[in-house]
Amino acid sequence: MTGARPLKFASPLIDEATIAAVGDVLRSGHVTSGPWVERFEAALSAFCEGRPVRVLTSATAAIEVALQLAGIGPGDEVITCGQSFFTVLNMIVKQRATPVFVDCELVTRNIELGRVAARIGPRTRAIMPTHWPGSLVDLDALYALARRHGLRVIEDAALVIGSRWEGRPVGSFGDLVTFSFHPNKNITSIEGGAIVCNDADEARRIDVLRFHGIERLPDGTRDVAFAGGKFNLPDVNARIGLAQLERLPTFLAHRRGLVERYFERFKTKPACMLPPEPRDDDGQSWNMFCVLLPLEEMRMSRKAFRDALAERGIATGISYEALHLTTLGRRFGYHRGDLPNTERIAAATVTLPLHAAMTVDDVDRVCAACADLLGANCAQ
Ligand SMILES: *Cc1c(COP(=O)(O)O)cnc(C)c1O
Repeated sequence: MTGARPLKFASPLIDEATIAAVGDVLRSGHVTSGPWVERFEAALSAFCEGRPVRVLTSATAAIEVALQLAGIGPGDEVITCGQSFFTVLNMIVKQRATPVFVDCELVTRNIELGRVAARIGPRTRAIMPTHWPGSLVDLDALYALARRHGLRVIEDAALVIGSRWEGRPVGSFGDLVTFSFHPNKNITSIEGGAIVCNDADEARRIDVLRFHGIERLPDGTRDVAFAGGKFNLPDVNARIGLAQLERLPTFLAHRRGLVERYFERFKTKPACMLPPEPRDDDGQSWNMFCVLLPLEEMRMSRKAFRDALAERGIATGISYEALHLTTLGRRFGYHRGDLPNTERIAAATVTLPLHAAMTVDDVDRVCAACADLLGANCAQ
């Protein structure tokens, strides 16, 4: 398909007004964390119905700081899901804590909450599930379980800013909730992330954790009591994030329209397993559209399928590899076969293009290419 425009699998939409606003920040003389960080945090806090929010340089930094804020340290166990991004594993290990992996549901890809209680032991301190686009972790069940066992919760909401649970935005209630503003997410600050926390005291502790561990003393000098990080977001990024947050509803509506088109037009033989189908007023946001290939019925590998799409100018991704089977994950004693759904997804998943700069015609092109490739390369 020469001539068709290359289709990225994710791409941010940054308008001229935002680019001009960044110019103003650059000319203001205040480019690292300052007034725009405060404004971005205030807007995010309003979005989260008044809960305190602090922004950081990434969701990875946000998860690291959230684990520290929750007091997770050496020997502690954190229950999490094997179907997520490397951050989740890495940041638990970075605290010298132990990741305890639970399998996910095959269609929603969210942690199987029914399997969590059996993994709670004397060293368990927290549950850190990742919310998947199209379907949130059951937050009533999650918080009931956490309360029953006295555990902290860190919701990895990197993919789902704008999703709602029973009408309320993710982040507007609960314990610690982290967002990502990486360019592939629903809104971007280029790099960036945030933590929603419980009260002013926690917000103050995040201020210290994200900036070297520095405490200001009454005599005007400073002290550090632990090895803090350096995760403060610059104003340039905060200015972009603030402009993007205003456009979040527009982006989400556009993404949802594209997903509805995928559900209308994505018909392959043999069939792929699709994400949960959107229902009217279900409150879900759609950051990614991931399908499971019918590998047993295919005469081509996933790699060959993705390469063939790339040749037609269609970029794809893999979300995600199985965390427990990474070299780092296996160090904690995990083996193939431990988490069947997580492993099946890791082997067969393909992330198709979905972003606010796409059109319905782009979706049709992806659907036609997938139907064509699967139809031509499957045993009948
Ligand atoms: C993108 C992502 C992260 C990390 O976000 P960064 O801002 O790039 O650090 C964490 N968890 C999930 C599920 C993600 O998709």
